[in-house]
Amino acid sequence: MSKSLQAIRGMNDILPEQTPLWRYFEGTVARLLDNYGYKQIRMPIVEFTELFKRSIGEVTDIVEKEMYTFEDRNGDSLTLRPEGTAACVRAVLEHGLTGAGQPQKLWYIGPMFRHERPQKGRYRQFHQIGLEVFNIDGPDIDAELIVLTWRLWGLLGIRDAVKLELNSLGTSESRGRYKVALVEYLSAHLDKLDEDSQRRLKTNPLRVLDTKNADTQAVLVNAPKMADYLDDESRIHFEGLKARLEAAGIPFEINTKLVRGLDYYSKTVFEWVTDKLGAQGTVCAGGRYDGLVEQMGGKPTTGVGFAMGIERLILLLETLEKVPEEISRQVDVYLCAFGEAAELAALALSEKVRDQLPNLRLQVNAGAGSFKNQFKKADKSGALYALILGDDELAQQVIGFKPLRGQGEQQNIAFDALAAHLATCVVQG
Ligand code: ATP
Ligand code: MG
Repeated sequence: MSKSLQAIRGMNDILPEQTPLWRYFEGTVARLLDNYGYKQIRMPIVEFTELFKRSIGEVTDIVEKEMYTFEDRNGDSLTLRPEGTAACVRAVLEHGLTGAGQPQKLWYIGPMFRHERPQKGRYRQFHQIGLEVFNIDGPDIDAELIVLTWRLWGLLGIRDAVKLELNSLGTSESRGRYKVALVEYLSAHLDKLDEDSQRRLKTNPLRVLDTKNADTQAVLVNAPKMADYLDDESRIHFEGLKARLEAAGIPFEINTKLVRGLDYYSKTVFEWVTDKLGAQGTVCAGGRYDGLVEQMGGKPTTGVGFAMGIERLILLLETLEKVPEEISRQVDVYLCAFGEAAELAALALSEKVRDQLPNLRLQVNAGAGSFKNQFKKADKSGALYALILGDDELAQQVIGFKPLRGQGEQQNIAFDALAAHLATCVVQG
């Protein structure tokens, strides 16, 4: 196939054999968020480039080198969204959803785009589920965000494989004082810092903290710690969060180097990490961003949120063999019909059955075929039962009912009794 007719590198098809797992995952999260009182919002995939520059920050990896930016036919600079928070804040402001200090608990799901080096767990189109909460400023809601992810890991059976890392970046005032101290310390060791860190020292000094360079990491061992610069407000908030996590029995580790990639965070930041996926170990990350809404032109409005990477969580479920067996079976009953008259009767009968059992997963054979051929398809579909309708059955107004997975003998069921019979033997979701 010519390269220009293939999918773009780092942008993947999610094939039919994979979609059951995606739907199981997405359905589990959606139900959980409904239960915690979050409302879904859907934003466009494309926004003005300026939105991301303003919210994410000019000197971040995303804005500096990862965005898919292009000019549209009007000459406007547009960008495929690299994350969801910016667009969510934009939508909330545009529609006045947080007017008069009104709280909002929102979530979204969808594709994000970043021009990164594709590898396991890192793609150019990937998918996130994100939560954003506005106008609730206490540590109780930070704790709720973490508690509900912990519940999700429990539902998915992956609690043992993930670990919570936590830090506080303080208010912007306390962070400002910390930055001064950090820059002073690092400037005294400038020659030992890697090139990237030397540059970041000028543009975004906190980012030096999450360097992967060993020499720079060695310098950081004795660097000033954010924890020593927290003001009372930030400290009380952080203590309140820790107390709630302890009350909920959720283990966590303080990681003073955790700063997160985006500019807009304040106070709480957290990541759920796993050591089962190699280098791409963060499956969910977020924090508080109390200044962002104002920075984007709104009234002062606190915010806190997180995003989880769906591909990484799917990979984790597969790696840990936590894919529930039942999700791969998508057909309950497969109906085989032989000859024109039987096909007509089968169509009428199957529609009647669907009227009575709306959740029954009934597949009617299409494309005719011999007995052997249709039976093979019935078996391959994964169905528990085959229904068989030929001229003989039609003459008697009955249909053959054959268990395919060794649950009893074949028998004939009267047309009128079919729905009632199926209701007794198929558990309907
Ligand atoms: P990383 O440090 O792995 O690059 P990040 O800090 O850039 O992550 P966020 O912007 O916080 O990531 O996005 C939240 C989550 O989205 C990440 O924790 C991860 O699970 C997922 N994610 C981010 N970038 C990618 C990507 N390119 N491919 C797949 N998943 C991603
Ligand atoms: Mg990144």
